[in-house]
Amino acid sequence: MTEGPLDTDLLDLLIVGAGPAGIATAVEARQAGIQRILLLEKGPSHSFSIEKLYTPGKRVDKVYLGQEVDCEGLVCIVDGTRETVLETLEAFIQQHQLEIRSGTEVTSITALPEGGFEVLDSHGTRHRSRTVVIAIGVYGRPNKPDYPIPASLKGRVRFDLTEALPPGESVLVVGGGNTALEYAAYLYAERPVTLAYRGEDFTKANDVNRRILEDLERAGQVEVWRRADIQALGDTGGAPAVEVTFKDGRAARFHHVLYALGGSTPDGFLKQAGVALDGKRPLVDHRFHSNVPGLYLAGDLVAGGKGSIVKAFNTGRAVVWEGLCQDHLECRIPGRGERA
Ligand SMILES: Cc1cc2nc3c(=O)[nH]c(=O)nc-3n(C[C@H](O)[C@H](O)[C@H](O)COP(=O)(O)OP(=O)(O)OC[C@H]3O[C@@H](n4cnc5c(N)ncnc54)[C@H](O)[C@@H]3O)c2cc1C
Repeated sequence: MTEGPLDTDLLDLLIVGAGPAGIATAVEARQAGIQRILLLEKGPSHSFSIEKLYTPGKRVDKVYLGQEVDCEGLVCIVDGTRETVLETLEAFIQQHQLEIRSGTEVTSITALPEGGFEVLDSHGTRHRSRTVVIAIGVYGRPNKPDYPIPASLKGRVRFDLTEALPPGESVLVVGGGNTALEYAAYLYAERPVTLAYRGEDFTKANDVNRRILEDLERAGQVEVWRRADIQALGDTGGAPAVEVTFKDGRAARFHHVLYALGGSTPDGFLKQAGVALDGKRPLVDHRFHSNVPGLYLAGDLVAGGKGSIVKAFNTGRAVVWEGLCQDHLECRIPGRGERA
């Protein structure tokens, strides 16, 4: 068994990750009368993927990537911005008095022979819980290119915008999805921006982002390179520091390179917890229960590669009402009209 101080309180429900799915799971669980709930969050604050990956002021669509899904539970959003969505989630946390320990990454989950789980966090604390929901999303592990990135370019090559880019210094944004297009549209005002995509059409992005990019390209505010497949990055040793070579023989220099290549299922984490996978896809039933009794998954992890905030909320609702309350925990069945 793992070493470290044991948090002696036995929890009913430990939720790993306080993003939309984790928060919705906790809110529904409170509504179901589940008593001892704790959320552990790796980032410095809740909803860290949104905080980290959405550009400031980013428009947030409730119907995302054409997915007409309505909120089935208590937690919902309306169309808004990164900031209004974060405020809405914060209000749910306050209203339902959710206990979130931020800056606390879960490193392992072990099913105990006598039932329940022991969960180890990055501070070395061991938590005991009757049930666990993993709601860590897919963005913790950004996809990286398959060519090497010279170690000397550390600080020049990024995978998110958690650290501000200096104004005036050129940036190559790499990718063809919504994130890449939103990065380009956010960054161009203060620095020269080039967007490189190995494909021809930006079919992975939504109409609005495509239109914005077209306008920026037409106005000469963002340079767009299509069929631009990168072969290698090199360090010029000067400024701009990053030499980018493309497979068609082109080469160019930038102060910074920002990759937006999406994320992948953190399969190592899931495997460690004993979750069976089909390739990269975790195997869960219709309530998002895994093969490990009492261990559930929620949010983007079970969205089949096409997640959204509302879909994440809805998985939390299903986990609680159709899973935990049916098979694992004692729940209070709410009166008529109480449950959304
Ligand atoms: C650029 C961009 C734009 C988007 N725009 C929209 C939009 O307009 N509308 C929409 O509906 N959707 C949008 N999405 C998708 C949406 O953000 C996701 O579907 C949603 O955030 C999924 O919620 P989640 O809770 O499953 O995962 P996440 O939001 O990724 O939350 C997971 C949380 O778990 C934490 N965590 C990870 N590992 C650990 C660990 N080991 N221990 C503890 N905590 C951990 C993370 O820090 C994070 O806070 C967008 C996504 C991106 C990248």
